[in-house]
Amino acid sequence: MRAAYDAVEAAYAKAGHAPTWPVSLVVEPMPIMGATQSRAGRGHLIHVSLQAAESAMASGLIAHEMGHIVRTEAGHPSHDRTVHDRALARVTVPRAFARGFPRVARSAIGHVEDIYADDYAIPLMVGARSREFFGEWARNATRTAGDRWDEVFGALDIAFSIGNLDRHRLLEGDDPLRGLASDFAAGHGIRSLGELTTIYRDLPDPTSSEACEDLLAGLVRTVLGELRARPA
Ligand SMILES: [Zn+2]
Repeated sequence: MRAAYDAVEAAYAKAGHAPTWPVSLVVEPMPIMGATQSRAGRGHLIHVSLQAAESAMASGLIAHEMGHIVRTEAGHPSHDRTVHDRALARVTVPRAFARGFPRVARSAIGHVEDIYADDYAIPLMVGARSREFFGEWARNATRTAGDRWDEVFGALDIAFSIGNLDRHRLLEGDDPLRGLASDFAAGHGIRSLGELTTIYRDLPDPTSSEACEDLLAGLVRTVLGELRARPA
């Protein structure tokens, strides 16, 4: 883990993006692959799951978390909680969706943060290995079965994975994954899969707080529209 971390830090430093706040890393059992907690000026704590630490993707995961660290230190609007909260406050959620909606909206916004983190991680460290990783992620999501919430979570995962690969030109135009994605959309009556994929693929950078807030509000409205269009 030490060697993997050092290799990631060296690659970021070489590109002029070394973190300036102290970084610690802990490996522990957790239900997700990894996460990073940051406290302004104090430092970052990268959490790596046991499962990820033992996998071939450990350095890819650290590179991804390092992308979040660089965005956080730079004060990038995508990683600014106040921008997220302002965007969410602009969207009126009908009472029938009020309980579940914050979680799906946070997932949609979390994917935006991940795209901006991977704008560093993919070119600097992960490269074409992203194909297998996000391909698997999207394929799993196309097997989503469940209620309308599950279907929208699945659509977001597919849109994010394919949008991210397309952003880095890592997916062929005729890749079978595209067919699986459109079959999922057709089979589950998801209207906005193409729109969501395009939002993730084309996220602008640089961007301002205002533009990012607008974009997130639009994204969250699209997600709400998709939920509302589905039978209960
Ligand atoms: Zn992430």
